[in-house]
Amino acid sequence: MDRLQHVLDEIAEEAAAQDDRGLVAQYIPELAKVDPKQFGIAVALPDGRVLTAGNAATAFSIQSVSKVFTLSLALGKLGDSLWTRVGREPSGNPFNSIVQLEQEKGRPRNPFINAGAIAVADLILSGHEPREAIGEIVRFIRYLADDDAVRIDERVAASETAHGDRNASLAHFMRSFGTVTHPVDHVLGVYFHQCAIAMNCRQLARAGLFLACQGRNPLTSSQVVTAHRARRINAIMLMCGHYDGSGEFAYRVGLPGKSGVGGGILAIAPGTASIAVWSPGLDPVGNSKLGSTALEQLTKRMQWSVFGS
Ligand code: GLU
Repeated sequence: MDRLQHVLDEIAEEAAAQDDRGLVAQYIPELAKVDPKQFGIAVALPDGRVLTAGNAATAFSIQSVSKVFTLSLALGKLGDSLWTRVGREPSGNPFNSIVQLEQEKGRPRNPFINAGAIAVADLILSGHEPREAIGEIVRFIRYLADDDAVRIDERVAASETAHGDRNASLAHFMRSFGTVTHPVDHVLGVYFHQCAIAMNCRQLARAGLFLACQGRNPLTSSQVVTAHRARRINAIMLMCGHYDGSGEFAYRVGLPGKSGVGGGILAIAPGTASIAVWSPGLDPVGNSKLGSTALEQLTKRMQWSVFGS
């Protein structure tokens, strides 16, 4: 274990020395204020230990990483009928693209692009008021992280709501096809609040641990999803977790992963570890620049890629 801690310390040191950190997301004004000089990493292990380096205790906006948790929650509620609403193929398009939606009759390519996650939010909303659905998502993530301190950053939620025209367009467009069934402002209310959840690397790594442990949360000894479902969620993360940078991430890192425009990435080494990394500067496709490099180094040095060394 000393070796893993040593590798994490090395990676954090290398990140601290980097000048080229990418650009912090600009289109959500609250995110544009975040200091790009931060870097944190945490590795949660099946025996309950969490090893960290850098700013692993600093909360950040998890943004699209939340889509892993809402997909898991929605699959638990609806089972495989969810896939009639959303596909599971890589999009090859930017995270907020609308072009495929028209060609494919309002059915989003996968649950990790914005359109797909908005459709999943619509499913979670069924039978609920928006506030209840938001509460259900937060409770689920707190339970996974085994930490009641996980919260929503209301300033980020308000900032996204005020600048959410693109997501509103996606939602209205899908509503015209029946993929979205609730009022658009309710669905976006859920979606923007799930994206505005703030967590630190330690909490996020712990929350993802069930995906590394065949669907079982070793912290609470509960089966969150079946082993079969965990395997499939990992497969979708590998293929679709980094938008049109998913192929590059698989090539460089070789793990299922999900990024967010807050600069966080959750990556899963099945059977071995759940890893959360955060650095707010993004590459041109919207994935954390130093976060991707850190994961590439971690999988290389620990030989954790699912594709071998
Ligand atoms: N809340 C962001 C949006 O809808 C999520 C995008 C992301 O993290 O990739 O634009």
